[in-house]
Amino acid sequence: MSNHKGINTICTHTGELEDKEYRGAVSPLYMSTSYVFEEVEVKRYPRYFNTPNQVALAKKMAALEHGEDALIFGSGMAAISNALMAFLKAGDHVVFQDALYGGTTNLVTEEFHKFGIEYSFAKDSSVKSLEAEIQSNTRLIYIESPSNPLMKLTDMAGVAKLAREHGLVSMIDNTFASPVNQNPLDFGIDIVIHSATKYMGGHSDILAGTVISSTDYIDRIRHLAKNLGGNLSDYTVWLLERSLKTMGIRVKAQNHNAQKLAEFLSSEDLVENVYYPGLKEHPEHELAKKQMKGFGGMMSFGLKERINASAFMKELKLIKPSMSLAGVESTILLPSKTSHGLLSPEERQKQGIKDNLLRFSVGIEDIEDLIEDLKQALGKFK
Ligand SMILES: *Cc1c(COP(=O)(O)O)cnc(C)c1O
Repeated sequence: MSNHKGINTICTHTGELEDKEYRGAVSPLYMSTSYVFEEVEVKRYPRYFNTPNQVALAKKMAALEHGEDALIFGSGMAAISNALMAFLKAGDHVVFQDALYGGTTNLVTEEFHKFGIEYSFAKDSSVKSLEAEIQSNTRLIYIESPSNPLMKLTDMAGVAKLAREHGLVSMIDNTFASPVNQNPLDFGIDIVIHSATKYMGGHSDILAGTVISSTDYIDRIRHLAKNLGGNLSDYTVWLLERSLKTMGIRVKAQNHNAQKLAEFLSSEDLVENVYYPGLKEHPEHELAKKQMKGFGGMMSFGLKERINASAFMKELKLIKPSMSLAGVESTILLPSKTSHGLLSPEERQKQGIKDNLLRFSVGIEDIEDLIEDLKQALGKFK
């Protein structure tokens, strides 16, 4: 899309507030929860998503995803729940792809029945399987690509076309890719959601979420969100704007490191398989090349059966075991013990999540040091 500015220019500048009084280099922070009426129409209030810093950051978010407008929420889950509920009422049905972020699965399976909302999980993330679940009362299709932890891709253009043919709203959780690597609105998806806690924040110190779409759809979500209350505090909005300035260069460094590490791990005898969309061996590498600009900083890999993955993790010195992801620091975890620990062993087996599968969130450290850390840890098992 040539009419958009480059990613680093958007990250650094779009939406910034001018400091007219002192000519400071960064956006001033307005913490007011009360504003004197000047124009009667505008009632500024943080929960209405219209304070100066919220509006400024929403402009940057919209530009990052090639949308018209955006909302900034207090968490990724607040963004997801508000976006979903704005389009659903009792008696409606939603089609979800199979592999979803755990919190989203919990929202659907634990809460939807209280509101009389029906749902189906497709048997996998193919367009055909999603189509098979569409009913006469289906209103919405919800996908996530790449998915956690096996980095499976969903064909965004295919899903957007399917949704249009059936008059459904299409939504994607684009957290794993980040707007640097993937812009779903360009492929016809209606609504993009991010946990800004991840690549947008990038330093493991901000919890936030965002929804980006057309003006019409954002107005609709804002209407519900005012009633539910889930905005991010202006101070954290301001911090998130700062974090986003370096998102382009951070994520590109993570893409670069992840590609090198995926290639290194693929060549190691003790590694059974590597799941990374940037590898030619990835079953959807062609789709990845079509819909992604970079292949991301997330990957997973399975160790040979005889190696105890927990013991392997303990040998790592630089790469830290941690639940979260997408920070500038490299982290690793065992999905079978954490994100997918509540599933039965049979269910995990079915999803292809073996006990010695590791999910790796690649940081921006020097590639030589990351490779050295993995090498020395693998060396203990040779
Ligand atoms: C972390 C995450 C979420 C939830 O975001 P929070 O900010 O923790 O509420 C949603 N989707 C994906 C893919 C995530 O990684």
